[in-house]
Amino acid sequence: MPAPARFLVVLDADYTLIRNEVIELLADEAGRGAEVAAATEAAMRGEVDFADSLRSRVAALAGVPVEAFSRAIARIEPTPGVRVLIDAVHARGGVVGVVSGGFHEVLDTVAPDLGVDVWRANRLVVAEGALTGEVDGPIVDATAKADTLREWASAHGVPMPLTFAIGDGANDLRMMEAAGLGLAFNAKPAVRAAADLVVGPVDLAEVVPLLPR
Ligand SMILES: [Mg+2]
Repeated sequence: MPAPARFLVVLDADYTLIRNEVIELLADEAGRGAEVAAATEAAMRGEVDFADSLRSRVAALAGVPVEAFSRAIARIEPTPGVRVLIDAVHARGGVVGVVSGGFHEVLDTVAPDLGVDVWRANRLVVAEGALTGEVDGPIVDATAKADTLREWASAHGVPMPLTFAIGDGANDLRMMEAAGLGLAFNAKPAVRAAADLVVGPVDLAEVVPLLPR
């Protein structure tokens, strides 16, 4: 049973926790970065079904060797202010979660390095040292992100009004609606329009004044 917390902050990963879209870094390895970036952009604007889009984008990764994960991790840039935010959450008795439509294979290194307490993402199928182009298990889509936020709140004894969700993409909108406060961060127009609050500067330290003291 996880320790009780005063409040819960859940961040999206790609373009929220970090200044990259990991699937694009992996697609570069297959020479399909531009094509996958365009498909990702459409998914983040909410123009296509996220799960269908993710499956077809992951199919473009077939044949990429597993060594690509460490090269992708080396290219990741944490978002400015992320350590300030995470330290502030911990200093005030809160818990930080990350829920991602991206991949455990990268987040399992990046999230603990940044001090994230709990994280969840998709898993890629690997066979004979290379990606098969398939996702393992159910896809972390908008509904799964919202369900994860509720699950973590319950596990840590945090009432829903004391939950915060921060994201940039259309697949973050459901968790932003479910949370006590939904913050659009560096977000797409549809996400800005639906958020409780819009954080304009690409600096997660801007969120600190909104946390319980
Ligand atoms: Mg994102």
